[in-house]
Amino acid sequence: MTRSQQRNVILLGAPGAGKGTQAERMRDRFSLPHISTGDMLRAAVARGTEMGLAAKKLMDAGALVSDDVVVGIVRDRLAEADAAEGFLLDGFPRTLDQAESLDETLAAAGRAVTDVILLDVPEGELVDRLAGRRLCRSCGKPHHVTYSPPAVDGQCDDCAGELYQRDDDNEATVSNRLDVYRRQTEPLVDYYADRGVLRRVESSGLTPDEVFAAIDNILDRQASA
Ligand code: ADP
Ligand code: ZN
Repeated sequence: MTRSQQRNVILLGAPGAGKGTQAERMRDRFSLPHISTGDMLRAAVARGTEMGLAAKKLMDAGALVSDDVVVGIVRDRLAEADAAEGFLLDGFPRTLDQAESLDETLAAAGRAVTDVILLDVPEGELVDRLAGRRLCRSCGKPHHVTYSPPAVDGQCDDCAGELYQRDDDNEATVSNRLDVYRRQTEPLVDYYADRGVLRRVESSGLTPDEVFAAIDNILDRQASA
């Protein structure tokens, strides 16, 4: 694959905008490695590493983990073989500093971000989505008690794993996460628009399949442009 055909994709959007749900579909459709900093941090928490323990306090409060830690995790992950021809970043970058260091890392390898998919959802919908969210403990697949209930109560549709609610999906933490998004992450919309790579998807009122169709369209068009 030539460099011009690389898909170096970022999924941008508020907590609850549907990044995880779409990432799963995009990974299958485009064979891109799904790199979720939230998942990697939660894995570090589960392993009980020193970094994980420090991160857990911040995550439970809805605050951001330090740029140094997250940038290091992502840089290591992008150096792995499966990310050499493309990747799908989910939950990173979340600050302007993270975006700048990602650009530097990629530029050092002669690469660049090709598409930033912004999942745009009105704030009122987000709280509802997060409060009802249930994740699979085995495979991470997101479900929702009202919008995408599992066929069997408490059980993952894909792998029958146990569904659980994330510690930070409670109302107090959610409002802090949305606040952090507005202040720290939303400026990235302009950052990537200025670089000509922002693709906005208005997701309100669309089913996950409809949102995915819009994304599919965007990435297909990029590939053949
Ligand atoms: P969501 O997008 O639903 O809020 P994530 O799973 O992406 O959830 O992230 C959960 C938490 O992990 C964040 O609230 C934050 O504490 C931490 N985190 C994830 N990615 C980053 C990042 N790029 N920079 C700093 N902290 C992060
Ligand atoms: Zn599962």
